Amino acid sequence: MHETHVLVLLLIVGFSGALIGSFLNVCIYRLPRQESIAWPGSHCPQCAHPIAWYDNIPILSYVALRGRCRYCAVGIPFHYPFIEALNALGYMGLLWFFGLSWTTAAYGVFYSALLVVAGTDLSHKIIPNVVTFPGVLIGLVCAATVLPIGFMGSVLGVLVGGGILWLLAWASPYLFGKEGMGGGDIKLLAMIGAFLGWKLSVMTIMIGSLLGSIVGIALIALQVIKREDYIPFGPFLVCGALVALFFGQFILDWYQGVLAG
Ligand SMILES: [Zn+2]
Repeated sequence: MHETHVLVLLLIVGFSGALIGSFLNVCIYRLPRQESIAWPGSHCPQCAHPIAWYDNIPILSYVALRGRCRYCAVGIPFHYPFIEALNALGYMGLLWFFGLSWTTAAYGVFYSALLVVAGTDLSHKIIPNVVTFPGVLIGLVCAATVLPIGFMGSVLGVLVGGGILWLLAWASPYLFGKEGMGGGDIKLLAMIGAFLGWKLSVMTIMIGSLLGSIVGIALIALQVIKREDYIPFGPFLVCGALVALFFGQFILDWYQGVLAG
């Protein structure tokens, strides 16, 4: 493709990503509160004033309003433009890595679902079933049609990914003397397995556990949290899944090269 076309395409996909990121913010705010994500329209959580379209343009409106509500001047949390930017960058990255294809579109759905899960788990310690259950189904359907792992690879991913976490959740009271994981983490890994297959699910768990341990130990050392405090595991699994999504095949190829000598 011509370079200008690629640039225009990246910009269109990036802007769409930011718009959808705006909707993801609505999901992250409303799903844990069991509110409808379709109605009512966006309004300020502080003064309940409806937000006009020109104050609801992803990232730009936040900058223009200097992070404050136009009507009551309450601070708009920084995670709003952050999620919008992450979704925009993610879509652009997926387009760059996987080209203009149905595979890229499927991974886009997966990527956005991961962002919602990380957001709700960080803010409310909840991984919503309304994301992960349809996520598993959509993953299976996408794998049967457009994803490289294929349908059986996807089924295996659900069983292995979900299965390992189910075993860990079952065993952790015996191994570590406390509840390690919730049912939400198991369903999250089942969704990850449905999109990425069993190898990358295992990689996700390894990277997620490593990140979780490092951050956990650092937070305890810095006395931000206590040893017995609960740290949501979902965001670390999401980080692991993102590494696996973008670089997983590259890491697997490298690893097999090392094994082959
Ligand atoms: Zn307000």
